[in-house]
Amino acid sequence: MIDEIGIVLVYPELLGTYGDRGNALALMHRAAGRGVVSRLIPAAVEEPLPRYGDIYLLGGGEDSAQRLAARSLLADHAAHAILGSRPCLAVCAGFQILAQQFEDADGRPQPGLGLLDVTCGRLALRAVGEVVTEPLNLPDVPTLTGFENHRGTAVLGPQARPLGRVIAGVGNGEHRWDGAVQGATLATYLHGPVLVRNPALADHLLASAIGELPPYRDDDVERLRTERLDAADPRRHRTRRLLLGRWAA
Ligand code: GLN
Repeated sequence: MIDEIGIVLVYPELLGTYGDRGNALALMHRAAGRGVVSRLIPAAVEEPLPRYGDIYLLGGGEDSAQRLAARSLLADHAAHAILGSRPCLAVCAGFQILAQQFEDADGRPQPGLGLLDVTCGRLALRAVGEVVTEPLNLPDVPTLTGFENHRGTAVLGPQARPLGRVIAGVGNGEHRWDGAVQGATLATYLHGPVLVRNPALADHLLASAIGELPPYRDDDVERLRTERLDAADPRRHRTRRLLLGRWAA
């Protein structure tokens, strides 16, 4: 296991609207818990994407910021190769930017970076609220919790697999799926920040970058997970209703 990593936060000034910077903090916190020092490397828009990062993070953003971020990455000829060769997490606007194509606020198709075999369109209505998903392609990651606030959809092509099956919320707007997994790239509509609410997903990314990790339990985060899942997971509501019904009888 290496003892120092660089975490590149891509365009925090554009893709920072929904608090996804917290994903970098979650990675740093869980790396430190294993004695690994991490450096946070913010990548500025219209500057060459740093090539020496170990993990790359793209967050959510408004439609206009998303377009600017996509344009800047498309203009950077090394960006596709850099992002395609390292573990990468892309959230919401970031997810759409890594797709083949997404739609702008006027419904006009805009080119994405094409790192994911995904085409994004627009939902008829904005999806806002808590989301619960069951990971489909990451065996070591339990139920995911987060929140969504987007108009984007995602239709997966044959190279991309869904990140999770939607239990509550909207996600991709197709097949009751959320997100995409392709190579070492993970994409999702979940904010939260998603790596704060789902430490196993943070560990999955860290392990892709630095190898197998010793266990690290964070009781505060476990309490947060339980509280959010109790609030949003309909399966838990059913269990509670059944138990309450039994107690009341
Ligand atoms: N602007 C995009 C949309 O509405 C992304 C929003 C977000 O990142 N939360 O779909």
